Amino acid sequence: MRTQIAIIGSGPSGLLLGQLLTEAGIDNVILDRVGKDYILGRVRAGVLEEGTVGLLDEAKAGARLHAEGLPHDGFSLAFDGRDHRIDLHGLSGGKRVTVYGQTEVTRDLMERREISGAPTVYEAANVQPHDFDGHSPYVSYEKDGVTHRIDCDFIAGCDGFHGVSRKAVPQKSIRTFEKVYPFGWLGILADVPPVNHELIYANHPRGFALCSMRSASRSRYYIQCSLDEKIEDWSDERFWDELRRRLPVHHAEALSTGPSFEKSIAPLRSFVAEPMRFGRLFLVGDAAHIVPPTGAKGLNLAASDVHYLFSGLVEHYQDHSNTGIDAYSARALARVWKAVRFSWWMTTMMHRFPDTSDFDQKIQEAELDYLVHSRAASTALAENYVGLAY
Ligand SMILES: Cc1cc2nc3c(=O)[nH]c(=O)nc-3n(C[C@H](O)[C@H](O)[C@H](O)COP(=O)(O)OP(=O)(O)OC[C@H]3O[C@@H](n4cnc5c(N)ncnc54)[C@H](O)[C@@H]3O)c2cc1C
Repeated sequence: MRTQIAIIGSGPSGLLLGQLLTEAGIDNVILDRVGKDYILGRVRAGVLEEGTVGLLDEAKAGARLHAEGLPHDGFSLAFDGRDHRIDLHGLSGGKRVTVYGQTEVTRDLMERREISGAPTVYEAANVQPHDFDGHSPYVSYEKDGVTHRIDCDFIAGCDGFHGVSRKAVPQKSIRTFEKVYPFGWLGILADVPPVNHELIYANHPRGFALCSMRSASRSRYYIQCSLDEKIEDWSDERFWDELRRRLPVHHAEALSTGPSFEKSIAPLRSFVAEPMRFGRLFLVGDAAHIVPPTGAKGLNLAASDVHYLFSGLVEHYQDHSNTGIDAYSARALARVWKAVRFSWWMTTMMHRFPDTSDFDQKIQEAELDYLVHSRAASTALAENYVGLAY
């Protein structure tokens, strides 16, 4: 088989890139090692920047998002037993975020792809990129015991942190930067109304908590936990009790509880690989970088990478210019590092670290107090949260 762009990975970055390329008349094939239902069962991000929404519209996959997504103009920082609202809309010059689950984004993009007839190979085993440092790259994979080969012009490695694309790059050509945080997030999904119409990020002596939602009747809640916690030790009752303790009293009293239908522990990590281009292979999204979810940036960064790569590929095919693809890595990384910094800063400010000294604790309290009382500091927070310009 031959195509213009072979895309490894059918997560949000691979699907969004594939759909934008298809709409622009550029052939592409998507390969994923797992099946469609497995991908749709992964519960992950839920806060979309306006830039991400714009790209989904451009991919003609934004209709349900506009009908069912929840526009949010602010969120609450809770500490010292009180709420402090951050007016995202007022502080960012009229921008907002949209709460809409990653699972739904993925479903909408998959449906659009099926309508457009662009090819996707699910459950492709041993996917491997080849010869991307030359002029004739190709991707091999196995399906039902038969080995296949897709020749292409370029390969987009959209295969997440554990994928093959980054690993296929020679060690000497890549530099990685990593920070592992000494805690994780224990998260649940439950069909109960959200405790608040906006998100609550809570800093509490017992640890961080986040009250989020997927819809008016489905809540997503997280609590900071130590890395050696076991999910089987956390009954729903224990989770709800611990969440209540970390919220201001009026929220704790208003919290609706019920059985969870998803519960998982995620470690927190910052990771960046540089550069993001190796000859005819481009790394996109989590394949190149990971951020802790505190800043709600993972999925949004995947989308901004797609924007830079897509516009570079359009320039290549339509204008016969390589300027865009040559600039891809530098342009994407400039935005990535700012989101990495913001996510690290939010994580540091909102969590309790096991080795925090009394001095560190006082600094954290002073920072939160300054942040909510200084318009300049709140504005910087809002500007980053709604998403920096592409
Ligand atoms: C548990 C968890 C919770 C998260 N919560 C949040 C959050 O609250 N907010 C936020 O902004 N972000 C969150 N994120 C991050 C966000 O989900 C990711 O940034 C986003 O999914 C990145 O999209 P992607 O397409 O680049 O990668 P992925 O979504 O990881 O997709 C990669 C795809 O590649 C496929 N693949 C992998 N290896 C291979 C292979 N060898 N061959 C073929 N295919 C392969 C995978 O099956 C997958 O479908 C979370 C991530 C995780 C893991």
